[in-house]
Amino acid sequence: MKLIILGCGSSLGSPWITNHWGNCDTKNKYNRRTRCSVFIQKGNLSVLIDTSPDIKEQFLKNNIKDLDNVLFTHEHSDQTSGIFELKPFSWKYKKKINIYANSRTLKILKNKYDFCFFGGRGYYPILKANKIKKSFKLSKGRNNILFKTFEVDHGPITSTAYLFNKTAYISDCSGINDKVLHNLKNLNYLIIDCLKFNSHFGHFNIYDTLNIIDILKPKKAILTNLHTDLDYNFLKENLPSNIMPAYDGMRIKI
Ligand SMILES: [Zn+2]
Repeated sequence: MKLIILGCGSSLGSPWITNHWGNCDTKNKYNRRTRCSVFIQKGNLSVLIDTSPDIKEQFLKNNIKDLDNVLFTHEHSDQTSGIFELKPFSWKYKKKINIYANSRTLKILKNKYDFCFFGGRGYYPILKANKIKKSFKLSKGRNNILFKTFEVDHGPITSTAYLFNKTAYISDCSGINDKVLHNLKNLNYLIIDCLKFNSHFGHFNIYDTLNIIDILKPKKAILTNLHTDLDYNFLKENLPSNIMPAYDGMRIKI
């Protein structure tokens, strides 16, 4: 099974639309970050987590031509606003694409992107909404992936953390309760929110993230949702070798 980090930037990416790079070295290609999403592939089974505003370029860049399922972490625009780009997959397979999220996120997506779910005015619906369970399996032919889901704090809302094949994806997080932490022990990979140096109400800062890594002790931790504060080389040079900053296009075998 392989996983591609399609994007690892915070909500505005790096650089921002204003060409603001913050602390990031403009010459390092690993500092050019699109918005957070990951692609998981097991044989012919493919799963995308979140449809970022950069999703089309992310797919083209990584030569991804097929997509079976989409999981959402939460409703924020940096995770969802590329949702209508799924249309060509619905045309390609002549069916609705299955999306999965918690009930709050589904409700908001159906309201905001009603044309994707209900069609109308001459357009066909392209998405089928499925509520996530605590544990569910996605399959295609002989390939299947078991997902476990946990709600974590993300400022005033929650965000869904996905656990699959000893890998956890927690892209937007400001707190994890003890019960959830207990379920995240013995990971091979922890892909986790690490926004910036300063505190933020909706995200872990670098010290919060390092604290969680110290508690969970995954074999490897990959930092994502990186703001322009955090330069790739700075992180690489100053973190222990089992903690890596993500970069767009990073591929891991899980
Ligand atoms: Zn968010």
